[in-house]
Amino acid sequence: PDTSDIPVIFISALDQTADKVEAFALGGVDYVTKPFQNEEVLARVATHLTIHSLRKRLMTANAELQKLATVDPLTSLYNRRQFFDLARSEFTRASRYEHNLSLMLIDLDKFKVINDTFGHSCGDRMLKRVATCMKENTREVDIPGRLGGDEFVVLVPESTPSHAQILAERLCQKIPEHLEKAEGLDQAVTLSIGIAHYSGETDVILDTLLERADAAMYQAKRAGRNRAIVWSE
Ligand code: GH3
Ligand code: MG
Repeated sequence: PDTSDIPVIFISALDQTADKVEAFALGGVDYVTKPFQNEEVLARVATHLTIHSLRKRLMTANAELQKLATVDPLTSLYNRRQFFDLARSEFTRASRYEHNLSLMLIDLDKFKVINDTFGHSCGDRMLKRVATCMKENTREVDIPGRLGGDEFVVLVPESTPSHAQILAERLCQKIPEHLEKAEGLDQAVTLSIGIAHYSGETDVILDTLLERADAAMYQAKRAGRNRAIVWSE
């Protein structure tokens, strides 16, 4: 892999079309027949080096674009679009194989007050810390994202409602602890979580889960914030 993209120019006394075609099929970028002129070979080398470096720059630019399109720049969590792309395929799998999954909506409590009191850059730092803490407290297979503002989300595959509730309660405890330790503010920052659970119901789609998690999250806000509520009929 380290040397596989080095451009290779064939120089050969074989001058049949079939020989040249075979060289290109093997991955050669050019073919020069003997006898050859040094100047011509050097000119071809220069051309291929230019193509090679343009290709590398294009690949780097594509990787950066891909990152911008999928990752939230502040927190490095999946952005809204990428989260829903991943969530849709996870939901399709769960629905096909009748597996459980949970969707967790997380909104910071009174975050506007934090911004107004301690400044926007302190707020930004906290959002980053929330993301770090979310990653530390979820599993590799869980899908965490930032939907926007102070609203985060986690899709938890293969989870029972009680597992999702335990995870949510852990986040409700760990995130404020982490923020308090890191920022040392005299004001606690808490969060409200709404959880919706899916266990293969045929009349439920991903949007239904999102609406339910949202309803449960608002219920948590109304009930006094700083808590996790599982949606139920
Ligand atoms: P509630 O408990 O009802 O959620 O109250 P809240 O103040 O958190 O209200 P809400 O969730 O509606 O508002 C989110 C606030 O988050 C609004 C804005 O001040 C702040 N916010 C949104 N995006 C950013 C951001 O990128 N950086 C910072 N620092 N603050 C943000
Ligand atoms: Mg909020």
